[in-house]
Amino acid sequence: MKNYDSIIVGGGISGLLSALVLSKSGKNVLLLEKNRNLGNNCNSYLVNGYQVDTGPHAITQLHDGGPLRYLMENYFDYVPAFVDYGDYFIRDEDGLKEVPTTLKGYLTMDMLPRKDRLIIAQSLTKLLLSWQFGNDLSNISVYQCLPWNALSSDTQEFMDTFSYFLSGKQAKETSVQRMFVGSGFIGEDIEKDITSENSEHKYNDRFKRLSYVSRLLNNNKVDYNQYYPRNGLKAILNAILYSLPETVEIKTGTAVEQIITENNIAKGVLTKEESYFADTIIYSAFAKDLPKYITDLPESYISDLSRIKQSKALTIWLGLDETFEEFNYTGGEVWFKDKPFWAMPISNYNKNFAPKGKKLVGFMFSINEGNSLESEKLEAYNTILRVYPGINNYIEMIHYQITIPEKASVSINGFIADTVTPVRNLYLVGTDVDDRSMGITRAAYSIIKLIKSLRIDGFIIEL
Ligand SMILES: Cc1cc2nc3c(=O)[nH]c(=O)nc-3n(C[C@H](O)[C@H](O)[C@H](O)COP(=O)(O)OP(=O)(O)OC[C@H]3O[C@@H](n4cnc5c(N)ncnc54)[C@H](O)[C@@H]3O)c2cc1C
Repeated sequence: MKNYDSIIVGGGISGLLSALVLSKSGKNVLLLEKNRNLGNNCNSYLVNGYQVDTGPHAITQLHDGGPLRYLMENYFDYVPAFVDYGDYFIRDEDGLKEVPTTLKGYLTMDMLPRKDRLIIAQSLTKLLLSWQFGNDLSNISVYQCLPWNALSSDTQEFMDTFSYFLSGKQAKETSVQRMFVGSGFIGEDIEKDITSENSEHKYNDRFKRLSYVSRLLNNNKVDYNQYYPRNGLKAILNAILYSLPETVEIKTGTAVEQIITENNIAKGVLTKEESYFADTIIYSAFAKDLPKYITDLPESYISDLSRIKQSKALTIWLGLDETFEEFNYTGGEVWFKDKPFWAMPISNYNKNFAPKGKKLVGFMFSINEGNSLESEKLEAYNTILRVYPGINNYIEMIHYQITIPEKASVSINGFIADTVTPVRNLYLVGTDVDDRSMGITRAAYSIIKLIKSLRIDGFIIEL
């Protein structure tokens, strides 16, 4: 039987990036993916001549030192082309307005009652100042920090919608820290793990904190630093696949059923047909499912993993006649009332995503798990018809996707796992292993952590 240096469970972007890093560090790798295709949440495919992504995506932190950029520069054979994301808008019955990026912008945003805007601005300033003096905002919820019941229902829905897009949960479960980082008001701890040996938190740097606060108070615009891959989400997947050396063996349609351990050391995996053995196992499926694969994990670890929270998303892709004029911009828009959604006209980045004379727009909703999928789909579709009167006359393609965008929501009292597990030689990667940023960027952070852990454990020598 062939022995590998590493076995990777799962062939989404986290598993594939792990395979890339390990193989480029000279290791023989076996990657097992239960689906027939690779990529999972990071892919694009054709529907009636339209190229849809697995959900609308904005890729963050591609600047110098950002985690995906770091991996692309060091491990990819070529880097896919990215285009600037464009602008963020909020839509209400009167049309589109740009999302404010300064304190002054918030104060003059006329979609919400003036009284509420003043309350929010005051709370925001107070919290930022307390953060600047070293206070931790990661356990205070957005809900807690505002006089919630004094706010109008429109403002409550607005805060809930933005909280959801930043954390996967509503204002009661979203921390103020998460809201500030996600909206670009304060910086992410991006340099940790990449450039320094120790994990000193950048937030501890009083001067950095001061510069964020003064930027906001002086009404300097927040730079969102977001991008979209010009040839669609699958361009990232294709670049990884192209860069994989021949020392990576991939088996699709092969589900791992058990992780084999001996004396608390991971030794291999079991599939329906075969067992495979390796020096390290990298697990990129849901961390909360790990107890299904290993029977003798410590009770306290199982209990922590059970605190991981997730949420489901529904994306509706609409192919529209080009003459429908509501989506003539580059970027994304948020509707925050009743049934909130985030919409992104992706064919404005690349006309080839839609047949000639057509455009392609993705609308992402959160799913209320108390309702049936069919009623959620219907309610979402009807919301689109209500928000864009007359749009039904322009629709020529409808495609629905149900997905879990993040393996762990970054919510208060939720749990984020670590790369290192209580089982020796078993490591975790993915969006449930780091709380920084979101999605693909967060997955990339988890790979940086993996590299660091593998170096510390002496499994790989160089970056
Ligand atoms: C609607 C939507 C919107 C999003 N928006 C953004 C965005 O704007 N920006 C952003 O950066 N990210 C966004 N994301 C998130 C991003 O796409 C994901 O975080 C990322 O693709 C996750 O990659 P992953 O490899 O960690 O997980 P996954 O894609 O879930 O991959 C895990 C893989 O493991 C496999 N697997 C599971 N169990 C087994 C087993 N037993 N044996 C073998 N294989 C197994 C699964 O089949 C899967 O292929 C969005 C996602 C969605 C769905």
